[in-house]
Amino acid sequence: MTTPNIPTARVIGVRDDIVSIRMLRDDEGEYHPITKNEVVLICPQRHDGERQEQLQAEVLRVRHGEADVQVFENTRGVSIGDAVQQTGQMLSVALGPGLLGQVYDGLQNPLELIAGQHGFFLPRGLEVDGIDGQQKWSFQPVVKVGTRVKAGDLLGRVPESRFSHKIMVPFNLRGEAEVTWVQEGSFTVTTPVVRLRLENGDEREVCMQQHWPVRVPVNRDLLREGYNQRLYPQQPMLTSIRLIDTFFPVALGGTACIPGPFGAGKTVLQGLISRYSNVDIVVIVACGERAGEVVETITEFPNMPDPRGGTLMDRTVIICNTSSMPVAAREASIYTGITISEYYRQMGYNVLLIADSTSRWAQAMRETSGRLEEIPGEEAFPAYLDSAVRALYERAGLVQTNDHSQGSLTLIGTVSPAGGNFEEPVTQSTLRTVKTFLGLSAERAYKRAYPAVDPLISWSRYLDQLADWFAQTLSPQWVGSVKRMLELIRQGEQVQQMMQVTGEEGVTLEDYLDWQKAQCLDQVYLQQDAFDDVDASTPIERQQELFTLLLKCLDHPREYPDKEAVRAHFVQLTGLFRNLNYSRHDGPDYRRYRQEIQQLGLA
Ligand code: ADP
Repeated sequence: MTTPNIPTARVIGVRDDIVSIRMLRDDEGEYHPITKNEVVLICPQRHDGERQEQLQAEVLRVRHGEADVQVFENTRGVSIGDAVQQTGQMLSVALGPGLLGQVYDGLQNPLELIAGQHGFFLPRGLEVDGIDGQQKWSFQPVVKVGTRVKAGDLLGRVPESRFSHKIMVPFNLRGEAEVTWVQEGSFTVTTPVVRLRLENGDEREVCMQQHWPVRVPVNRDLLREGYNQRLYPQQPMLTSIRLIDTFFPVALGGTACIPGPFGAGKTVLQGLISRYSNVDIVVIVACGERAGEVVETITEFPNMPDPRGGTLMDRTVIICNTSSMPVAAREASIYTGITISEYYRQMGYNVLLIADSTSRWAQAMRETSGRLEEIPGEEAFPAYLDSAVRALYERAGLVQTNDHSQGSLTLIGTVSPAGGNFEEPVTQSTLRTVKTFLGLSAERAYKRAYPAVDPLISWSRYLDQLADWFAQTLSPQWVGSVKRMLELIRQGEQVQQMMQVTGEEGVTLEDYLDWQKAQCLDQVYLQQDAFDDVDASTPIERQQELFTLLLKCLDHPREYPDKEAVRAHFVQLTGLFRNLNYSRHDGPDYRRYRQEIQQLGLA
């Protein structure tokens, strides 16, 4: 970020991390102009020999000649009269090769690098480049002198881990430009590689890195100019988790919410989704977790094997904030994560963003709103909570980019409602916005029914929205059968409740049979063992095979003399199916169990 040295404002008040500033007048007696969300630098007075600190802050509110800014760092020592410099830029991230594999804080400071140089915490006022300025990348241009380009067009490619990283015309370029110079070879991200002549005749140098303001969607201008189109999600993001893919699917480019009562298996579920989903790149925002958990994320995640080879970290970016970091940085981290995700989507990749947790993000927003003394809404959250949540999830989606490739950004947000109370405002706003709800329940976790997603409270609108995909890819009856099985689970639950009052004797043989079927479906299909090499991941073809076979067995007409006979049959059937789940697909065990199931279940 460029840092002009002339102060344009002075501090007139400090309240926690909110600092009020008064703009100075220029030579004509006018206030220096300042805009909302602009980044300013506060320069606390220093004593002799001390390093001049520059504390980054974002403008939240502007009144005539005055502004309230939120400082991303501790405001200790900031006092009335301190100089303020404007950067003329909004809070931005650096986009370019070298993002993958990084662990950043909410302001894109690379945490590992800082840990190496300064210990675990960044000294106040220090800013580290988001992308290593020394490393060289091999740039292969696809444009020539004379090529006409517009914002978002492909200029060249760079190999980045196992991906082809597209270097694109800066997304904020207006109109058309002509390439006047281009060079091929190995360069740092700040070395110019292309020169453009703009419509007004000016020249602009382009390097492999560009900056983008985090609060603005990367493709905002590209959509407005018609260079990009938003498309309806057309296929599911396959997670290889049976309960999700079959019963509560999430679309590629869709949105989902996971509430996480403590110990219900949220961390394990997120790990599974990151590892096995059919996405190219995973961005994880760990927002406001306790410091210990963040350290766990940083140390464990990099070593997780990727089912596609290498480690998961090769195709992952982690944004980490602990609750010990200032509230503003916590609030910003989600936007940093989304912007990086959108950038890779722009290259035509399928990106998954997991934001954990959006409740902490909303709490950061509430704290700020409180300090600004805004009129509070429900539970002191700002009145704009709902629209902020909606705006966040709207940045997910499927997009056709400049070169007609398709990229998707799937956003899964977790919420952590206090005491598991889903009625609280953040959960409610989220549920109104997302299209899939994977309701993790403490009760199911207690029964060790993992993944502890409760089928009775979960839902997915994509089951209907993606009905064509399911019909064409799996079978025309797929969605109908899934809904019938969901109904069976509900019926089973009703019978179970009845039995709690009346005992087994109090229900009919028919009801008892339904209950046993529902139990079997739950144990065989919904539950899946994350710690078994085979069962951890069920590809969709295998899901289809299993679902079809299970359905046949459940539908097969049989006569039972009594409840004991029902129970005996289903104990055996469930056991065989579970053995099948633990067997490698199409290995000898698999074939043997399938045969035994057919003999038992379809006789
Ligand atoms: P949370 O993050 O919600 O506090 P975790 O994800 O750490 O909870 O899960 C707690 C424990 O539950 C795990 O250590 C593991 O033993 C068990 N568990 C969670 N999910 C699964 C799963 N899908 N399969 C098997 N065990 C699980």
